[in-house]
Amino acid sequence: MTTPESAEQAPHFIHEIIDEELASQKVGGVVTRFPPEPNGYLHIGHAKAICVNFETAQKYGGRCHLRFDDTNPSKEEQEFIDSIMSDIRWLGFDWGEHLYFASDYFEQLYGWAIQLIRDGKAYVCDLSADEVRAYRGTLTEPGRESPCRNRSIEENLDLFQRMRVGEFPDGAKTLRAKIDMASPNMNLRDPALYRIRRAHHPRVGDAWCIYPMYDWAHGQSDAIEHISHSICTLEFENHRPLYDWFLGQVTVPCKPRQIEFARLNLTYTVMSKRVLRLLVERGLVEGWDDPRMPTIAGLRRRGYTPAAMRAFCERIGLAKRESLVDVTLLENAVRDDLNAHAPRVMGVLSPLKVVIENWDEGKVELLDAPYHPDKPEFGSRSVPFTRELFIERDDFMEEPSKKFFRLAPGKEVRLRWAYFLKCERVVKDEAGNVVELRCTIDPETKGGAPSDGRKVKGTIHWVSATDSIDAEVRLYDRLFKEERPDLDDVAGALNPDSLKVTRARVEKSLASAKAGEHFQFERQGYFFTDPILSKDGAPVFNRVVPLRDTWAKVAAKG
Ligand code: ATP
Ligand code: MG
Repeated sequence: MTTPESAEQAPHFIHEIIDEELASQKVGGVVTRFPPEPNGYLHIGHAKAICVNFETAQKYGGRCHLRFDDTNPSKEEQEFIDSIMSDIRWLGFDWGEHLYFASDYFEQLYGWAIQLIRDGKAYVCDLSADEVRAYRGTLTEPGRESPCRNRSIEENLDLFQRMRVGEFPDGAKTLRAKIDMASPNMNLRDPALYRIRRAHHPRVGDAWCIYPMYDWAHGQSDAIEHISHSICTLEFENHRPLYDWFLGQVTVPCKPRQIEFARLNLTYTVMSKRVLRLLVERGLVEGWDDPRMPTIAGLRRRGYTPAAMRAFCERIGLAKRESLVDVTLLENAVRDDLNAHAPRVMGVLSPLKVVIENWDEGKVELLDAPYHPDKPEFGSRSVPFTRELFIERDDFMEEPSKKFFRLAPGKEVRLRWAYFLKCERVVKDEAGNVVELRCTIDPETKGGAPSDGRKVKGTIHWVSATDSIDAEVRLYDRLFKEERPDLDDVAGALNPDSLKVTRARVEKSLASAKAGEHFQFERQGYFFTDPILSKDGAPVFNRVVPLRDTWAKVAAKG
């Protein structure tokens, strides 16, 4: 794992390249694009590519296009197009009027294919997919030429035109570039440009039964849009000679420069769209926006913020070599953002009842509790203090270990915003489980130390038992068990404890929490009212991330 967390602004090799090009007037301006294929939802890796492209354009006063590379209709859907647009906007980027589709260029691409055929640079091939593979050779052996390779230009023009009008069945023929079957770069061994596939396309419908291959469409689409820098991930490095070859053969208005960077990989995370799709289709998660998914829609529903995701992308910088980034860097970016912006409240996830024997039944004291220690502008709310409270089950130990500084029989702690609380007696059920604590408070300790100077080492959170609300809390853990999940057995690689649903007691002020609000539950972590499951007056809280580690947890380990 790489990448220093401290570097807020990591070096950016792409910006160095652009700076030089601008200085030497090799380019006049910067136009980038984000080119997703609409065959799934975007994930955090795409967020990285989105930030790189949009921020690079912003930095140089240029523009960034959104272009859907919709060349493979069998896997593409309108739902994905819509979700991609909404996710990019949510991340905080805007393509303005520059929304494009590779399918808008089908006619132009077809024209360029004709140009290639006329120039003797492309031919119609009858080999089946298996035969093409067999003819292709290997990394150590050259390929063999297709028997169709030397068809006349007239015959190729005729056959290609008949491919287009639907005279041949799916898969019967391809149009291939005529480059070099002995090239050490396999991508140059007469790659396919068109295949026959009768599939309904979300945008062009049934107008076409031949579709351009991604490699044929991609570079030319960039050229049509006057993209100055085609920023992409490393797996396309080997395709660059092919893209450049295409751009050299046809008459394009611009020759984009391709620059590759390493795709983002995260520990405990899978970013293959194929695998994410499988998780959804097999019902192993609740959908593309399941809060455990690394999709932007999932992270957003979980409660990750756009600012945190952008900060994370900034911090990890750009790499030229494959690396694996520790997912805690992402979680820390979320903590940093929410630490500053989320109001702090009290919620008890695993309630244990406390009865205060020296507090009258029915007596309610409203305590003023500020929402944030460093942000007076957040204001405060009243928290009712009553005879019966709930505290966290973990904050009590009947036989405390040496470094346990919270509540135990005969011991005292501070209740946040309230009094010192002493445990006098433990009430158990027949099975011997602790079901209630009988306690007393010291009235002298409200908001300060007692006159005898006695101190406590722990402060714990609580809610009134009679004046709080019940809420569903969803505690998420990593979706996969291992740092590098085994993709051959996706179901087996899943963490069985990735979701725990509990009933918590939270302070009454949260009854009015709206869907899509963030809170810190003191000592427990950051929470987000689930935008889909929450109802008016009945919020459902997703735990976004736990706190880094509270002093109390550290102490409890000792
Ligand atoms: P696939 O090609 O397997 O369907 P993909 O993730 O490459 O999946 P695209 O829709 O082609 O999907 O991706 C759009 C853009 O996002 C591409 O330019 C790609 O390079 C970039 N991208 C995809 N995954 C990552 C990643 N993990 N890190 C950085 N950029 C990524
Ligand atoms: Mg791709």
